[in-house]
Amino acid sequence: MTDHQDPSLRAIDQVVAKAVEAADVWGESMPVVRANLLRGLADVLEQHQQDLVAIADRESGLGAVRLNGEVARTAYQLRGFAEEVEAGVPYRRVEDEAVTGAPPAGRPRLARVQRPLGPVAMFSASNFPFAFSVLGGDTASALAAGCPVVVKVHSGHPELSRAVFELASSVIRAQGLPEGVLTLVGNTSRAGGIYLVQHPGIAAVAFTGSYQGGKALWQAANERPRPVPFFGELGSINPLVVLPAALEKDSESLARTLAGSITLGCGQFCTSPGVIVLLESSASRRFVAQLVEDIAPIGTHRMLTPGMQKGFEAAVATVAEYATPVFDKAADGAGPAPRLLAADAASFIANPHLREEMFGPAALVVTADSLSQVIEVLDVIGGTLTTTLWGVDEPSEANRKLVRAAERVSGRVLFGGVPTGVAVCHAQQHGGPWPSSTVPQSTSVGYAALERFLRPVALQDAPAWVLG
Ligand code: NAP
Repeated sequence: MTDHQDPSLRAIDQVVAKAVEAADVWGESMPVVRANLLRGLADVLEQHQQDLVAIADRESGLGAVRLNGEVARTAYQLRGFAEEVEAGVPYRRVEDEAVTGAPPAGRPRLARVQRPLGPVAMFSASNFPFAFSVLGGDTASALAAGCPVVVKVHSGHPELSRAVFELASSVIRAQGLPEGVLTLVGNTSRAGGIYLVQHPGIAAVAFTGSYQGGKALWQAANERPRPVPFFGELGSINPLVVLPAALEKDSESLARTLAGSITLGCGQFCTSPGVIVLLESSASRRFVAQLVEDIAPIGTHRMLTPGMQKGFEAAVATVAEYATPVFDKAADGAGPAPRLLAADAASFIANPHLREEMFGPAALVVTADSLSQVIEVLDVIGGTLTTTLWGVDEPSEANRKLVRAAERVSGRVLFGGVPTGVAVCHAQQHGGPWPSSTVPQSTSVGYAALERFLRPVALQDAPAWVLG
């Protein structure tokens, strides 16, 4: 941007300049070119899977099983976006023929086309070193839309990011594409992150991470002389409502499933169920006792970074100040001990500290004395990626109200199963009202994610060569 003394800011200028240089070529690239790159990136990941997983495991501690699964998911979605491109999705247009006569019925000929936004700054997530990092969903969807991507490496997995980036660059070179289609900003200061978001060459930002970090960067994007879209996913407490109808059916297996979901990946999922809402009853108390029994033997692994574990313990301590411990054993491994806490719904509604996200293997059990209070609990949460409703099979008026409340506050409503595990498909919606997402109309998982990076332009009475 200007002449800097700080070499890390100069480095950002250099990579953004490359992205800007590549923007026209990539934005106007044919479907076959884009699809070839996306497939080439999927192939290269798989060809080096073993080595990459070893690095990822060393840096993240997530284990080979989970990381291999993540590579499979990452390759799957790269290929999925290649198919979207071949199906013409980013090139779709709507045309209205000219109508003679006076307006409003009379009109010129119009074609509404979609154009890529331009270079996207992509902040990798800590908790998905493959699927939400260098070649993850944000990158795949932005590339599919025709936008070059400037990746901001997550400080939790710098070596893996560099290794994946080198492989990706070799594919880009081999396919004769401009280097700037994918560039990397290495470990930089927080000021460097802000600088990237505010760089005039950057046209949009994709972010997955914490509320504090996301909000700071979102503000930076909005404070630019010309603000740019900021697609952020900032945190979510994912309520799971367990109604008597569900407990009557299969209380034991539901408790087991829920215990697995709360502790999965040491609770480091943005969709981890953080608030379990029950109606006051003996069946609910038995369910919680069963949940405790199922969580007790589950071991955890180390968290992604020491900072993450510190953040988790601090959040648990905040919630614990106002809640009752239900299950609290000493840590018996490298990771933190799972935790269950409890509060009544009235306290949960009145006290925002009880709604703090405990990013790790913990959940708060909230007991309500009526269905209308359950709805109040959902409304006070306000914005969350998911709400799970167990036991609303009957089309009663009460259930209708509950479903309406769940849809009001979340992007995905589940009527069975658990919220961890987000399918990559066309119908997926991963995003919801603030703070789960900064743009609730958009999704960061699934094929609709590419629409974030396209901007409509209406071409009026355009010559044939412009329409192509
Ligand atoms: P994060 O701290 O928000 O970091 C995400 C990215 O944003 C990183 O690249 C980070 O840079 C950058 N960043 C963070 N704060 C910034 C700021 N003020 N200015 C400029 N850049 C900034 O998210 P995280 O690393 O995934 O998680 C950290 C904490 O967030 C955890 O302790 C966890 O409790 C909480 N959390 C995470 C998630 C999630 O889905 N990942 C969800 C909820 C809560 P650096 O790489 O330099 O740090």
